[in-house]
Amino acid sequence: MPENTVSCGCCGESQASQKLGKQLTLALVGGTLVLNSYILATIFGESVDKHVADFSAIIGTLILGFPIFSSAVKDLLKGRVYMNELVTLAIIAAFANQEYRTAGAVGFFMLVTIMIEKRTAIGAEASIESLIRLTPTRARRLTAAGQEEDIDVSDLRVGDIFRVRPGENFPADARVVTGTSTVNQATITGESLPVDKAKDDEVYAGTQNLTGAMDAKVLRVGEDTTLGKVKDLIVSAEKTRLPFMRMIDQYAGYYTPTVLMLAALVWISTTDLDRVIAVLVVSCPCALIVATPSAVVAALAAAARLGMLIKDVTHIELAARVKAVVFDKTGTLTEGILEVARLQPVDGVELADLLKVATSTECHSNHPTATAMRKLAREADVTWEDPESYEEVPGKGVQASFDGAVCRVGRKTWLAECGLDVAAFDHVEDDESVQAMSLVYVAKGDLILGWIGLRDAVRPGAAEAIRELGDLGIEKTYMVTGDNESVAKDVCDKVGVSSYRAGCLPHEKVAFVENLRARGELVAFIGDGVNDAPGLAASDIGVAMGAIGSDVAVHSASVALMNNDLRRIPFLIWLSRKARSVMKQNLTIGLAFIIIGLYLAMVGVVTPVLAAVLHAAGTIITLFNSARLVRAGEDMI
Ligand code: ADP
Ligand code: MG
Repeated sequence: MPENTVSCGCCGESQASQKLGKQLTLALVGGTLVLNSYILATIFGESVDKHVADFSAIIGTLILGFPIFSSAVKDLLKGRVYMNELVTLAIIAAFANQEYRTAGAVGFFMLVTIMIEKRTAIGAEASIESLIRLTPTRARRLTAAGQEEDIDVSDLRVGDIFRVRPGENFPADARVVTGTSTVNQATITGESLPVDKAKDDEVYAGTQNLTGAMDAKVLRVGEDTTLGKVKDLIVSAEKTRLPFMRMIDQYAGYYTPTVLMLAALVWISTTDLDRVIAVLVVSCPCALIVATPSAVVAALAAAARLGMLIKDVTHIELAARVKAVVFDKTGTLTEGILEVARLQPVDGVELADLLKVATSTECHSNHPTATAMRKLAREADVTWEDPESYEEVPGKGVQASFDGAVCRVGRKTWLAECGLDVAAFDHVEDDESVQAMSLVYVAKGDLILGWIGLRDAVRPGAAEAIRELGDLGIEKTYMVTGDNESVAKDVCDKVGVSSYRAGCLPHEKVAFVENLRARGELVAFIGDGVNDAPGLAASDIGVAMGAIGSDVAVHSASVALMNNDLRRIPFLIWLSRKARSVMKQNLTIGLAFIIIGLYLAMVGVVTPVLAAVLHAAGTIITLFNSARLVRAGEDMI
């Protein structure tokens, strides 16, 4: 058994904290020496030997400046010229002017700013890390003899069976073998309501077992678990950059030379070295550098806490500008858990036979229709058979063969396409009693045996989500579905979606989205990731619902929603807009500090020390402004 239980993620973080600890020590020691020099100079004035006070300041400055100088050299070697060079130059200039205390004070405030900046960067990462550090380090594996053995989680393999007791977190993604319990999945889904788990249900690494003891068989370990993917996604999202961040990167190369030229001009026209130092210090673009990333990381963290994984930061930009939202029906606006409401065989066919043919044909399908039929068949003790061959036609139906006879279950139009005579069923849907029911027809060979009517419930919160979208100014909401007209209308009326398209085939859903985009709308598509992957991919921003445990959903969408709460959609749009305005505010604050500061420094109003204080203030204001975002949506959990 390996003794090392510390994961790499943790090492990384402790290294960063260690570095911060060192800088803090340097800041304290250096700061004290510089302060000491000020006190000596003030109390004793010129009476003490000037060199004593100066000596204290020089040592202090060297200590404070060390991390800055070394970063400056590293940056230079990498060919990047940023703020560290400006600060280094300012300190050297102050030294040249024999203003050691000024040099020390500038060094102190700069180091403190850098530390605060790092601290909040680590803080944002820490909030993400805390999501991840939920997997326990030890697991209780069951041996073949049924004995418990305490092992390291890294030794857990797919197929192993482990036991969890109440209050413990799951060590891996697994399928329950025995026991029942309730599980808090909030860490992944952002929903604090516990979920019931029994045999054959999936449980996820990092979620918490609340009430019962359970044995579960490992499905995925480590990086492959849902939690591992969540981590990967967040980490890679953070690395992506917004278009205007890239633009800033491009111009960054010109920034330092421009400032240096300005400083040279000030020197030539005034020969006042203090002004030059103040110019160099005040133009350090710290606040500008942190303006956008700090807001982005904060927004990503806020979204992740609510179970929303944004894959690329450009999606934050896009979500803020969404004009039209297209919803899929089944499993998105509705629960996707169908119930058979009516079985209608034609004359001469038994109810049980209709159900038997239907379930046998559907026996390999994962479509909600198939699930509903199997459930009813089980309740009614109707058995089904395995077909010899089986084929599912997406958005249309399934066909299978038994003893040479082809059986089909699906929509009427598809059966007609297959050459069956559907004329007898032309007016079925006109009947009041079938309104708002999804109908599938069952056929054996050339004969239609009857139809099955199914119902689905509208998802709680759907109507509220649509209303909230309206409040955000998004009036255009659409629903696309493969289902019939009357069901589509019924659902739309219940949730308040403004228009719908019924009877869509999967490619027609895609065409619908593309059409909207061609008209210049920025389109968000909300679907389930499995059936609706093409629609998700065709939209500007695709949100996959209920993505927990589904790889496909996470891959095909821009945003993976780990739960099924539609109210997260308006929140996402609100959050993106908020993040965008915070970024704009930050850039404005940063620029204002630099431009006003530069002017005041050039005219000699701002001293070098004041410049350093101003610089720190600008950066801190920016960071605090972004930090407001981290708490967004806390009340939604
Ligand atoms: P939605 O757009 O509501 O998600 P789908 O695209 O999954 O619906 O399916 C559209 C229609 O095609 C269904 O209403 C049903 O009539 C038919 N259909 C699709 N798959 C199946 C299936 N496995 N069994 C029976 N009917 C199916
Ligand atoms: Mg669907």
